[in-house]
Amino acid sequence: MFRQRVFADATSGYKDADFVIFGVPFDATSSFRHGSSEAPDAMRKASYNFETYNDFFDLDLTDLNIHDLGDLDLDTHTDEMLRMVCDVTAMILRDHKIPIALGGEHTLTYGCVRAFIEALDDPDRSDPDSGILILDAHLDLRDEYLGVKQSHACVSRNIVDDLTDKCVLIGVRSGSAEEYAYAREVGILWHSADEVNDAGMESVIRESLDTLFDRGCTQIHLSIDADVLDPAYAPGVGNPEPFGLSSRDVRAAIRLAAPYVCGFDIVEVNPGYDHGESAMLGARLVREFIAAKSVC
Ligand code: MN
Ligand code: MN
Repeated sequence: MFRQRVFADATSGYKDADFVIFGVPFDATSSFRHGSSEAPDAMRKASYNFETYNDFFDLDLTDLNIHDLGDLDLDTHTDEMLRMVCDVTAMILRDHKIPIALGGEHTLTYGCVRAFIEALDDPDRSDPDSGILILDAHLDLRDEYLGVKQSHACVSRNIVDDLTDKCVLIGVRSGSAEEYAYAREVGILWHSADEVNDAGMESVIRESLDTLFDRGCTQIHLSIDADVLDPAYAPGVGNPEPFGLSSRDVRAAIRLAAPYVCGFDIVEVNPGYDHGESAMLGARLVREFIAAKSVC
């Protein structure tokens, strides 16, 4: 009688799936606008807007094996959410499938990256093989925010401090003086949104991937904070920041990075603050990632 809506074309069972989607309806640490917990379902709904055929890759998503696990059943405890995200992501990675997390706020990405370390890294190596490419308007390098350490405003910092220093940020245009100083101090590579505008996404992505490979990275998680997009393209986000990337820039990043990416998340879409544009774009970017990765 009851049926949870699944992402469009996610008709495969788990066992046969190459891509496994799950929702993380969590926004407990959101500082400015709450509501990203509504995004997984909004993106699922929006996903039915699109043709199943992708003309750029000449493939039909109905021919791919995609499964949607539904949403994690969460309360408001951040640590428990991170443990659940980590466990689900690690299960999917160990089963040689590609995890796709629909946020929710950016905090959840810590759980995804921890799963990479737990599931894929060689335990005999002290230096992690796993790295992360983050598209975000914000550095998210605060030590703590509003008295909370596991916050969306600290996610890059926590990943770099606890999990892996193989981290590159793209699309940055906001951070405190302390965050910029910290990035310099520990050697976090970041590319500004202006740099993407001036040099083009292709050269920025190539340099970012080269940096990750040079540092010994063999598997990459791609995290897209929707506020990396200019508010003109994605007004419904938690912390909108002008002078951002175009939807084409972000699509280009996904197409170029996909061959090297083993896990994906899209976070910080906030459907209560627009007329559906941001969830629509988020759903389309998920579909583009699936198409791009499936031809690799
Ligand atoms: Mn963020
Ligand atoms: Mn952000």
